[in-house]
Amino acid sequence: MKKTKIICTLSPASSSKQVIEKMFQAGMNGVRINTAYGNLTQYQSVIEMVREIADIPVIIDVKGPEIRIKASQRKVFNKGDILEVGFDGEEVCFNHDIYDQMVVDDEVYIDNGKIRTRVVEKKDRKLCLLALNSGSIEDGKGVNIPNKHLSVPTFPERDLEIIRFAKKYDIEYVALSFTRNAEDVKNLSQTNNFIGGIIAKIENSEGVQNVEEILEAASGLMVARGDLAVEIEPERVPLVQKALIKLCNQKGKLVVTATEMLESMINQPNPTRAEVSDVANAILDGSDAIMLSGETAVGQYPVDAVEMMTRIANETEKAVKSNVEDPPFINISDTVSRAIQRISQSMPIHKVIPLTRSGYTARMIARFKISQPIIAVTPEIKVKKQLELIFGVYPVMINYHDKKDRLLAVTNKLHEMHLVNDEETVLFTEGVRTAMEHASNSIEIHKIKELREFASSSELTTFW
Ligand code: PEP
Repeated sequence: MKKTKIICTLSPASSSKQVIEKMFQAGMNGVRINTAYGNLTQYQSVIEMVREIADIPVIIDVKGPEIRIKASQRKVFNKGDILEVGFDGEEVCFNHDIYDQMVVDDEVYIDNGKIRTRVVEKKDRKLCLLALNSGSIEDGKGVNIPNKHLSVPTFPERDLEIIRFAKKYDIEYVALSFTRNAEDVKNLSQTNNFIGGIIAKIENSEGVQNVEEILEAASGLMVARGDLAVEIEPERVPLVQKALIKLCNQKGKLVVTATEMLESMINQPNPTRAEVSDVANAILDGSDAIMLSGETAVGQYPVDAVEMMTRIANETEKAVKSNVEDPPFINISDTVSRAIQRISQSMPIHKVIPLTRSGYTARMIARFKISQPIIAVTPEIKVKKQLELIFGVYPVMINYHDKKDRLLAVTNKLHEMHLVNDEETVLFTEGVRTAMEHASNSIEIHKIKELREFASSSELTTFW
């Protein structure tokens, strides 16, 4: 059972059900839709295909304050050319009006820094950009203006429409590009009372600086290394990646490492040695999930890329260790999850089974990277799908709410599903006689066979 989760970015325009199905078989655990491209009808069709194939989460990536190029067609240019870029529906324009905030000599990078330009003139509400290298500009590509604090609204009208759409389709996660502070995250959850998980994409120095408050407000983080490497110095990215992952692990929040993981597999059937090491290191750092972008959205080898990631994950995760430190008391679940880590190391336990309504307890246990599989049982389908992205967690939906003996009902169901067998010893944890949040307060260890035999030979009404 692979523990590291794999997210695949799908092209809204060209994803086929057959390829999505193959990627799922190869180890895909979640799907990202990048709303820099495509339209609502295309997103709807991708979501429907994914939902027909598997119970895995969809992440809708909204662009927020990210500056992007809008281009009616691809524009090829040479080093030394002047590119005129407007703000209001011209052939090539920016998605946000930043004209008044720009000055001559500002540097403007396009497509994760592949194209470097400098403002040489401002005229007729257009920026004249001197191309410092040759290349081509395409619709939807990201723009970075490093070391400049630009005032841009969190959500342009198009994002508001996408967030309404995400709510309508009960989407499991929205990823917020260029999250700058906790306010951006709160704005998103207040926008149409969006109730899914929020993944804050950390991709500039403001996001890095404010990461603690951002994480308090969000469900998790994405280390969005494409933009991050342009916005801060690329050589700072590896240590920032480690620090962000460690912070998320400490708090039991989702952490995704993204971008250029197997980049060369866009055009080649095999990755470079450095890419393989990068994927392995992201797993060793403590990522819950690793993400493919162009490799699966526009690449020639999408299924091979997922297979490759699965192979690297299977080999590397044997060596993953917890990086969680011991802080003073936080809450009951935190303390109980620490006890479970110790128990899982000190006696032969085959599986750890949290009964969890919000998913919190499962995440708190998973952050310790224990060797046993964590079968997270939840009555909520959305929580089940959200937990699909957590390292080492295998979520199952069972409605145990109104059962007299929940533990036995869950055991029988898991037995029926071949997720536990009579020879196994398992650890259950749940919140008993409490409605308090984050209060998984019980641990029970059972041999499955004994639990089932005991149940069939006695009236278990007083079990609890
Ligand atoms: C990134 O910049 O690394 C990233 C994941 O964001 P996007 O693909 O939206 O540019």
